Amino acid sequence: MEHDRAALLAALALQLDWGAEEALEDAPPDRSPAHAAAPVPASAPAAAPPPRGSAAPRLVAATPAAPASPAATRAAEAAATATSLDALRAAIAAFDGSALRETATNLVFADGAPESRLMFIGEAPGAEEDRLGRPFVGQSGQLLDRMLGSIGLKRDEGGFYITNILPWRPPGNRTPTDAEVNLFLPFVLRHIALARPRHVVMLGGVSAKTLLRAKDGITRLRGKWHRIAVDGLGEVPALATLHPAYLLRTPAAKRDAWADLLMLRRTLDAASQES
Ligand code: URA
Repeated sequence: MEHDRAALLAALALQLDWGAEEALEDAPPDRSPAHAAAPVPASAPAAAPPPRGSAAPRLVAATPAAPASPAATRAAEAAATATSLDALRAAIAAFDGSALRETATNLVFADGAPESRLMFIGEAPGAEEDRLGRPFVGQSGQLLDRMLGSIGLKRDEGGFYITNILPWRPPGNRTPTDAEVNLFLPFVLRHIALARPRHVVMLGGVSAKTLLRAKDGITRLRGKWHRIAVDGLGEVPALATLHPAYLLRTPAAKRDAWADLLMLRRTLDAASQES
């Protein structure tokens, strides 16, 4: 009980810290711990429709664009032949078609619980992630964990699964090039197919633009459910939101991120009631 109270107070403190002093929903949400911690059921189908009131879904191609280089062909083949998450991790570790592998320290494959069937996809590992071989463990990862904890999703309690578009850190944390992103896209799509999420959340512009094949920036893409079509899985609802590193630099944007989190929570609640 004391723990529940502390968790609720922490969520409240986070909202105040973010300037979320106004209600964004018509009805007050039920924030009791039992409600907030409702797990995403594992048995429901992958292709839940986007929630009412969301924008028209964007359906994107199931496979990446035609391979443009021998390395891209090899990446597509290696990804397609992986039949488990462990096999995919091994295939990425063995893939020598990118110079990023030479400069990085550790492969950063994924963290959390694929069984949650809620998958977050970020951009690329930073220094801390590279050092520890786990995604989102640095400053922005800590903010993300606090954000998700405030809607009842805890990484250490199996609340979600998380990975990146790139499995290796770009030197100096530079933004990934289009060539790098396209090279690893078959691995990311295969990762989604094997993890079988019911919902995907795309963190930041690189993730959203890559998975949605969109030209629009994250400001236009965020706050809406889209759909991505994945070979071997079907269509998966995918929410675009702001990257936590951007929120660290731009505190005023936290209000938008909070609205996105509420949208995610509502969708997960609706999905758990349907099943
Ligand atoms: N930013 C990302 O996009 N991914 C990480 O793992 C860490 C920071």
